[in-house]
Amino acid sequence: MAARPSIRGLAPYFKRLGPRTQVALCQLPLSLIVGVLGVISPFSSPSLLASPLYLAGIALNVILFLACFLTPWERLRPSAYLIIPVLDLLAIGLLRNSALAQLPGLAVLAVFPVIWLAASGILVRTSLVLSAVGPFLIMLPSAAGKFPNITGTDITPLVLVPLVMFAVSLAIRFASVNMRVQQRELQAMGEELRELLAASREREKLLMTILDATDVGIVAVDADGNELLTNDRQRRLQQAATPAGAAAGDENHHLIFAQDKVTPLPPNKYPLRRAIEGETFADYLVWIGESPQQRAVSTAARPLMNDGGRLTGAVVVFSDVTGMVEAMAANEELVSNVSHEFRSPLNSILGNIDLVLEDAEGLSDLTVRRLEVVQRNSERLLALVSDLTLEAFSALKVHPKRTDISGLVETSIGSAQAQAERSSVALVADVPSPLWAYADPLRIGQALDNLVSNAIKYSPDGGTVTISAAGTEDWVRLVVQDTGMGMAPDVAAKVFRRFFRADSAREAAIPGAGLGLSITKTILERHGGAIACASALGGGSTFTMTLPVESGG
Ligand code: ADP
Repeated sequence: MAARPSIRGLAPYFKRLGPRTQVALCQLPLSLIVGVLGVISPFSSPSLLASPLYLAGIALNVILFLACFLTPWERLRPSAYLIIPVLDLLAIGLLRNSALAQLPGLAVLAVFPVIWLAASGILVRTSLVLSAVGPFLIMLPSAAGKFPNITGTDITPLVLVPLVMFAVSLAIRFASVNMRVQQRELQAMGEELRELLAASREREKLLMTILDATDVGIVAVDADGNELLTNDRQRRLQQAATPAGAAAGDENHHLIFAQDKVTPLPPNKYPLRRAIEGETFADYLVWIGESPQQRAVSTAARPLMNDGGRLTGAVVVFSDVTGMVEAMAANEELVSNVSHEFRSPLNSILGNIDLVLEDAEGLSDLTVRRLEVVQRNSERLLALVSDLTLEAFSALKVHPKRTDISGLVETSIGSAQAQAERSSVALVADVPSPLWAYADPLRIGQALDNLVSNAIKYSPDGGTVTISAAGTEDWVRLVVQDTGMGMAPDVAAKVFRRFFRADSAREAAIPGAGLGLSITKTILERHGGAIACASALGGGSTFTMTLPVESGG
């Protein structure tokens, strides 16, 4: 629907007209009425044509209308055009007093010049006086003609008409003052808004400069995925992610790959898509672009909510971690190579000690004891080295199958029994049998051994280690709980890090390398499961492993 032009909407058009047309337009309503009078009076009241005053009134009006067009108002003072409404009053006076009998009520025409004078806003006081005096003078001759037999009926219009016109003038004056106040307020508001806009533009520029100067890619999108803000770094990453010759806007075939660098990520796993779906994530590693320019990018997303808590978009941050990932890979390769090199001499030492101890008859007891110490420490060293190799072996393989977890728990308890007895720790199992899960028995057995042996190791004053398990339709939960030394919760949050050891464990001189739990975590993750630790210093620890019941669960 087309918008109707409002009065305020007309103002710009009016301003664009020249001053002559503007003045003529103000005069037009009165001139039209007088024009109609001029046309109909020969028919309705032919006698008027004989009245020179009446004809002079009409002629004056015509002259005034023409003067509106012909006078160079632009060269005169701004108030000059007010002469027109003043002379209008004269013309109305001539018309009214000459056609009193034939056309009574012509005095009302004075409302046009009165409105014009009042609305002009110029010479306010003079205009107010004129709006009363003018009509008074228009009404005066008829009343004066009755003198001295003047009655109340004659005086009433003489007072009432100027009074009404004066009231009209006042009303218009007040209305226009009110309008002007509102206009001024609007102007002030407009000014304020302009200043706010300029300030917010400044801030936006500052924000963009800061964002462009940062080394991370940042993109903000609305709920439909339309970009609200993108910094330079992000634009460069997006370029790298767009295959050469891809159709513009084809977002489904980006060069975004999974952690193995080669498997293309399905579009619903793209960081931006996940963020638009309302997911919050951090450290989500993807590879962007193609070799040799391929970059490892760690992404994080936060949803944007409006005041009502409705999802309105998301902010996603992309940090280039290629250097770090490459350094970690090089580190792992080094560890892997070193441990591989350690293995052969260690195996040779152990093999030879075994041979010597098998045939220990000629050896003294002391020598045998010393060789046994060498054997124990070599075994420990070999265990450490294999842990290192396993950890460094980033593609640690698991072969899950339907496995009875209760059997694994039983085996684990059996092999930990001797260690538990040495440490005066009681082992308790509370596991339903059978308890099926989708697990690699070798690896989950290793994880379980790790947790049970830790639970005993970190209970130096004895206690109880309880292994319990429970299953739901989708998950099996395996819990290893001890009553040992425990850890502060903030320490417990770090135990799955490589080489992490709690200060309390070091101070108590409990041997360890800080690798077991990180391997255990890797094993669980490779199963699609998880591990968590809850602990309190001096209050024991609880490790909970979660495994899927079915493949892909
Ligand atoms: P390690 O036991 O060889 O040091 P782990 O990776 O198995 O390495 O454990 C890492 C650290 O976590 C340990 O050094 C110890 O401080 C802490 N920890 C592990 N299990 C327990 C437990 N059951 N109670 C208390 N602390 C533990």
